[in-house]
Amino acid sequence: MVYGKEHKKVLQSIMHEGAMDENRGKELISKLFGHTNTVQVLGEINAKLVPLHMIIKHINCEVTGQLYWVWTSTMQDKVASFHPEFSQAELALLRNIFSEIVTSNNGHASSTWCLNLCSSLNQKLTKANAQEFLHEMVNRKWLFCKDGKYYMGVRSIVELLQYFKDTYQENLQTCILCKQILFYAKKCDQCHTMTHVYCLKNYAMTRGNSECPNCHYSLSQHDHSSNDINSAMDIDKSDSEIDEVTEPSHKRSKRRH
Ligand SMILES: [Zn+2]
Ligand SMILES: [Zn+2]
Repeated sequence: MVYGKEHKKVLQSIMHEGAMDENRGKELISKLFGHTNTVQVLGEINAKLVPLHMIIKHINCEVTGQLYWVWTSTMQDKVASFHPEFSQAELALLRNIFSEIVTSNNGHASSTWCLNLCSSLNQKLTKANAQEFLHEMVNRKWLFCKDGKYYMGVRSIVELLQYFKDTYQENLQTCILCKQILFYAKKCDQCHTMTHVYCLKNYAMTRGNSECPNCHYSLSQHDHSSNDINSAMDIDKSDSEIDEVTEPSHKRSKRRH
């Protein structure tokens, strides 16, 4: 199908939201195109985006497993492309939270920890302002919040991956199943292998039992941490990989903070 105004509308909606819930995306495509062949429509949009060095990627929320479509650049340079409208104080807060998520053993930062951080920042930020800012970060999918804990949001995982690689090389972990970098994971008590919760769930569904993909230690009986998350998950397993596009030659200039 020729790229038309329907494609444009889909792209604009994704750009507007930053990260679009796949269910909403399906709804939108069904309304505009009269079918739900999202792979075809996104493929047509991505073909149009190639010369602009942009792409729509698929990514799962690490906590819920929900699939999102994220519009992002195919050229990530060494400096994070944080949104220019953030203040210096907000950026400082955000970078500290990322740091806490990456270096903690549990893949999250508590909201109390985040708000207490305000007083130790070089730039002034009131707790009320910080709270409002964090709320906005969650709405725009830079962070994910559950039960007073902040996790890495889907946009951060897609758009700031190069920044995380450069900043936290030795602290970054990879999922044994999908080989992608992960921030929040199920860790095997026996061999300490890390797995995305949603990857493990897919793996368990195909095998009919819940065991470590590495050492085959049974994870179900010993799992206290993510039972609530597992039961809340509903994953479309065919779409769980991130579409990889390599575009190594160009560098986009970005603001340095
Ligand atoms: Zn994975
Ligand atoms: Zn294991």
